[in-house]
Amino acid sequence: METIFEKIIAGNIPANKVYEDEQTFAFLDGEPVNPGHTLVISRKPYKDIYEIPQADFLAVMKTVHKLAPIIKQAVEADGINLHNNNDPAAGQRVPHYHIHIIPRFENDGFQHWQGSEDYHEGEHGKEIARSITDFLK
Ligand code: 5GP
Repeated sequence: METIFEKIIAGNIPANKVYEDEQTFAFLDGEPVNPGHTLVISRKPYKDIYEIPQADFLAVMKTVHKLAPIIKQAVEADGINLHNNNDPAAGQRVPHYHIHIIPRFENDGFQHWQGSEDYHEGEHGKEIARSITDFLK
């Protein structure tokens, strides 16, 4: 099924486009966290970080790297968050790979992660790191 972002690329749904090239497309988020909140997407409808090939991912990141400082300047932001959700459990609503560029302002009221917890005493952090590195072997 065609994603809403494919319809935006095709011009079938209006959006405020800010940039496009061969592999990527960028437009203003329709429900911005702050003014200038931009989505950078792959032209091809890869669903998420697990599906997108490295070359397309790097193309998205290249566009993010180009746009982030320009957006910061354009909306006179104090900072920028880059954000990417994968899977509904992580808050992904549109299954078409995208990075959020979110301008931030001093005292804009948005908080860092809530509910984060230190690793438990002792070996816990080491075990988690080991379970990750085991998969890299
Ligand atoms: P996700 O939750 O998947 O990481 O983010 C999807 C984003 O797409 C949301 O921030 C949402 O506001 C934005 N979005 C969804 N539909 C549309 C649309 O039709 N137009 C625009 N400009 N943004 C959209």
